[in-house]
Amino acid sequence: TAPLLHGKTVMITGASSGIGAAAARAFAAEGAAVVLMARRDDKLEHHARLIRESGGEALCVAGDVTESSDVQRAVDQARDTYGRLDAAFNNAGWASSGTPLHKTEDTDYDRIMDVNVRGVWNCLRAQITAMLETRTRGSIVNTSSVAGLRATGTAAPYIAAKHAVLGLTRAAADEYGPSGIRVNALVVGSTHTELMDEVLTQTPSLYEPFTSRAIQRRLADPSEIAQAALWLCSDRSSFTTGAAVPVDGGWT
Ligand code: NDP
Repeated sequence: TAPLLHGKTVMITGASSGIGAAAARAFAAEGAAVVLMARRDDKLEHHARLIRESGGEALCVAGDVTESSDVQRAVDQARDTYGRLDAAFNNAGWASSGTPLHKTEDTDYDRIMDVNVRGVWNCLRAQITAMLETRTRGSIVNTSSVAGLRATGTAAPYIAAKHAVLGLTRAAADEYGPSGIRVNALVVGSTHTELMDEVLTQTPSLYEPFTSRAIQRRLADPSEIAQAALWLCSDRSSFTTGAAVPVDGGWT
């Protein structure tokens, strides 16, 4: 059988580390040309080089998802280089935790909303426009969180932002389903990445609940989240849209 993403072009944001970097490897191994976006271009180039050395195809676009012009540039480069955009994994995100709601600074609130919500918003608009223009029956996957469905600790802006990601996912799925564009979200549980290391450094007491609330009693490896994103980006999930797909080790 052909590789799952054979002939497809997939844009991945937050591809410089963690879940996004794992997705880049997994998608490229399944035949996709991957368009990698994040701010740290040295890290992007490192991952792209490894992919090319394994026989894969990768393009790097250094940029900030909160800037619509950067996101547009990534979509344009995908189309210019590979002809069209078939799928996207909108995964860039940032969290901080441990500050009670009433002590949270506006700057923190703004940054969290900007990266997690405006970032996904910028991506959806540019990607859907490109897919409609090329009449591509595309698949878009947004990274939400177990914090997108419930409160998971002292992190009000992050919890609100990940709820908003599910709202945008459902709205876009509903509007563009008739055009053949699917939009889904991953409800990601605690995963061992740079972000998790940063959160646990800020608030070490979170390690216990983050592992014990998953019935598997462990953190996920980023590659486990990447496999779910791969399925959603591929035609294997052709009748799934508007869904919040849990990849959370059984979070309770
Ligand atoms: P990492 O910190 O390893 O990765 C985050 C990625 O987002 C990096 O590649 C970073 O790249 C990128 N990024 C951050 N801000 C921006 C920006 N403004 N513009 C472009 N890229 C940006 O963490 P994870 O892999 O854990 O995070 C990936 C997603 O998973 C996030 O949306 C996160 O909220 C979500 N998630 C993670 C969980 C976990 O337990 N780890 C649990 C639930 C959800 P760079 O700094 O180079 O720009």
